[in-house]
Amino acid sequence: MRAVRLSGWGGGPALTEVGRPVPRGPEVLIRVEAAGLCHSDLHVADASPGELPYRLPFTLGHEVAGQVAALGPEADGPAVGERAVLYGPWGCGSCAHCAVGSDNYCDRRGDLDWHGVGLGRDGGMAPYVLVPSARHLVPIGDLPADQAAPLSDAGLTSYHAVAGLRHLLHEGTTAVVIGVGGLGHLAVQILRATTPSRVLTVDIREDALALGHRSGAHAGYLMRAKTARTLKAETGGAGADAVLDFVGNSATLELATDVLRPGGELALVGSGGGQLTVRKPGFLPPGFRLSLPFWGTRPELAEVIALARSGALHVETETYPLSAATEAFGRLRRGEVRGRAVLVPD
Ligand code: NAD
Ligand code: ZN
Ligand code: ZN
Repeated sequence: MRAVRLSGWGGGPALTEVGRPVPRGPEVLIRVEAAGLCHSDLHVADASPGELPYRLPFTLGHEVAGQVAALGPEADGPAVGERAVLYGPWGCGSCAHCAVGSDNYCDRRGDLDWHGVGLGRDGGMAPYVLVPSARHLVPIGDLPADQAAPLSDAGLTSYHAVAGLRHLLHEGTTAVVIGVGGLGHLAVQILRATTPSRVLTVDIREDALALGHRSGAHAGYLMRAKTARTLKAETGGAGADAVLDFVGNSATLELATDVLRPGGELALVGSGGGQLTVRKPGFLPPGFRLSLPFWGTRPELAEVIALARSGALHVETETYPLSAATEAFGRLRRGEVRGRAVLVPD
C-alpha cells in the first residue's frame, strides 16, 4: 500500500510503498476512510534532527477515521466493519493518566519515542493503520469520515482548551480566538455551543474571518498594529476574559496579553515558537493565567463526537485523494486551506 511517510528530517513527506500491517495480540487493523492534515504535520516535517523524539521512518496522519478491518487474537471491543475515530495521543497505557483516558498527559511521555498515531508511530495517511489497543477507538456510527477524522484533533484539542476556560466564560464575558484555521473554526463553534460567551476572532486572512463568522463568531478582525485597541474597545474597555491562541508566535502572544483583562486566562495552543516573558513587576495583567493544553482526553473525544452527531459542529473540509497529498501539504503551507484538508485513500 502507498503511505505518506516521513523518512528524513526536513526532507518533507513522500508517498512510499509499505506492507499492509497485520494485527497481533490486542491490536486492531483499521481501513482508513479519511485522515486530516494538521498544521502540526508541517511542524513535524520541518523539525531539525533531535528536536523530536520520533524514530524515522513513519507514516504521518494523526486525525483518522475508518472501519475495523481485522482484529488481533487478543483484541476486545469492536467488531469487524464497525466505524470509529482514533483517539490519537497514545501514552504508556499504564500510568494514572493513561488509566483514565488522559493519554495526552501520560506521565511517561518523556520516556516514549512517540506522541501518538502519526507522531512517531505509523499514522493514518495510508489505506490501513494499526491501532495498539481497542481502547483508542471511539465509535462514530454514521458520522461522515471527513467530519469524524478532524474532530479527533482539531475538534478535540479545541474542546479540551475551551473546557479549561469554561469556569471563566459565563454570561456577559468575551473570548478571543486567534487563528481561524482547522482548530480555530471548531473552537468558535465549541465556544458557541458550550458557553454563553461572546466570541471575537483574529486572523491574517479575510476568508478565515468569513469562516469564523459562519462558525458563529460575533465579529472578526484582521491582525493589525491596532487590533489590541480595537478588541479592547469591543469589550467596553475592560478586555477579554479568555484568549485562545492557535498561532503562538510573538505577535499573537503580544496581542493575547494586551487584550486580556485582569484575572483573564490565555490558552496557548499554537506551536508558533513565540516567547512570553513572565516577570513581577511586569506587563502581564494582574491575575493573569496561562495554560498549555495538549490534545485532549478519550472521554472528551466521545463528547466531541456526540456534539457533532447532535448537529452542533460542522468541520469545513477540503477533500483530496491520498495520491494528491503533496498538493494538499503545499496548500496548507501556503495558508490556502480553508478549514481542514482531509485525505481519502484512492
Ligand atoms: P491552520 O494552518 O489550519 O490554521 C492557522 C490559522 O492561523 C490560519 O487561518 C492562519 O491564517 C492564521 N494565522 C497565521 N498567522 C497568524 C497571525 N500572525 N495572526 C493571526 N492569525 C494567523 O493550523 P491548525 O491545524 O489549526 O493548527 C494551529 C496551531 O495549533 C498549529 O501551530 C498547530 O501545530 C497547533 N496544534 C496544537 C495542538 C495542541 O495539542 N496543542 C494540536 C493541534 C495543533
Ligand atoms: Zn494536530
Ligand atoms: Zn501513561
